[in-house]
Amino acid sequence: MVSDTIAAVATAVGEGSIAVIRVSGPDSIDVVDRVFKTKRSLKDADTHTIHYGHIWDPDTNESIDEVLVSVMRAPRSFTMEDVVEISCHGGIVSMKKVLDVVLQHGARLAEPGEFTKRAFLNGRIDLTQAEAVMDLIRSKSDRAFGIARKQSEGSLSKQIQALRHVLVETMAHIEVNIDYPEHDVEELTNAFIRDKCTEAQAEIERLLKTAGQGKMLREGITTAIVGRPNVGKSSLLNALTQENRAIVTDIPGTTRDVIEEFITINGIPLKLLDTAGIRETSDVVEKIGVERSKSALSEADLILFVLNHNEPLSSEELELMEQIRHRPVIVIVNKSDLPRRLGLEQIQNTLGEHQMVLMSMKEQKGMEQLEMAISDLFFSGQLESNDLTYVTNSRHIALLKQAYQSLSDAIHGVDMMVPIDMIQIDVRNAWEQLGEITGDTAAESLLDQIFTQFCLGK
Ligand code: GDP
Ligand code: ZN
Repeated sequence: MVSDTIAAVATAVGEGSIAVIRVSGPDSIDVVDRVFKTKRSLKDADTHTIHYGHIWDPDTNESIDEVLVSVMRAPRSFTMEDVVEISCHGGIVSMKKVLDVVLQHGARLAEPGEFTKRAFLNGRIDLTQAEAVMDLIRSKSDRAFGIARKQSEGSLSKQIQALRHVLVETMAHIEVNIDYPEHDVEELTNAFIRDKCTEAQAEIERLLKTAGQGKMLREGITTAIVGRPNVGKSSLLNALTQENRAIVTDIPGTTRDVIEEFITINGIPLKLLDTAGIRETSDVVEKIGVERSKSALSEADLILFVLNHNEPLSSEELELMEQIRHRPVIVIVNKSDLPRRLGLEQIQNTLGEHQMVLMSMKEQKGMEQLEMAISDLFFSGQLESNDLTYVTNSRHIALLKQAYQSLSDAIHGVDMMVPIDMIQIDVRNAWEQLGEITGDTAAESLLDQIFTQFCLGK
């Protein structure tokens, strides 16, 4: 049983004008009561009530900050302990003073992740939920936030538990067979094990498939802006970011480095890469840029292929079109304010199934259509927007892969007519590996490792 009282700043330092100091443990109400000046003592406060007053230092009689204090009594709190949260609004200096005075009057500074660790140890949340809390803190976009929240509500845990249930059934079946090893039972059992393991593998595979999508959402969809020099790539990047990071110029080939920029379109996070014009060149500096943009192209989840409305299609552009025709592409025909000299037929033939957007960076036209095209692609494609169970954590991914391998070993064992108690070991391994995801078989050292990754105060 945890017995001491811990405190830390629960909000990110430097973000927002209000800071929250969280205090958790059996003495949390007493501790805060000692340094809180208000009409009535906190000791009589009901659970889930908010109190207005001032934090002061009883030793120096100094008033520190005007605050709101929330009281949440055990077990109806995040840690399932008595929790008091002090919302102060005096910026970093007074926030630190408030924390100091709390620490001087009976609380100890929380270790990183200690609040979440207590929530876990007290049975409030399981490991996948705990890890999702960490992801919540870090998630960059609304959509990634939604996924993290769903996971912290336990949807991954539920699926893992269902999987483990299938494996327990299988193990029970094998156990019966070991105890009553009659021949025909064995044959039945082999078919049963094979079925169940295959079923579990398919489910793991499905979860793993979401892993790539989860990663994509957290870091943003890597988007390469490609095209010949001078078609307007940097102008597009600038328009998208509404900043002037990339240098816009009339001299072809001046965007030499790949620049990264994060933006959000209708809640979809994009990591934009502005690449040098794709073309053969002898210029050494230019060549580096071109090489980089080719590798940017290969890693891109989405390609914005920019063409010039005012110029005929070049052979390089044709070649590039061939290269990317099976990838997620949006064709952007820029400079539509100038007369058309671009043959649209060839584009139609090669990239006809992809969306095409007519734009003019100069006249600021077409941006809405481009944003629509990006959302359409996102929602029509690989991601189902209503299924938010994504595996986003590299530890989960590794364990799912291990469990998958254990099940492959079990199936192989069945096919090779390996003694059934050997197969039992593989199934058991898979069951334990899955259990590590939710923390049901987690060792103490693993717990420490996970929780120290958390931000202070969470
Ligand atoms: P990049 O080399 O592909 O990155 O192209 P830039 O964005 O540097 O643009 C090259 C030149 O084309 C600059 O002089 C821009 O002002 C100009 N430009 C960009 N977009 C348009 C457009 O829609 N219409 C016209 N007329 N000029 C444009
Ligand atoms: Zn450029």
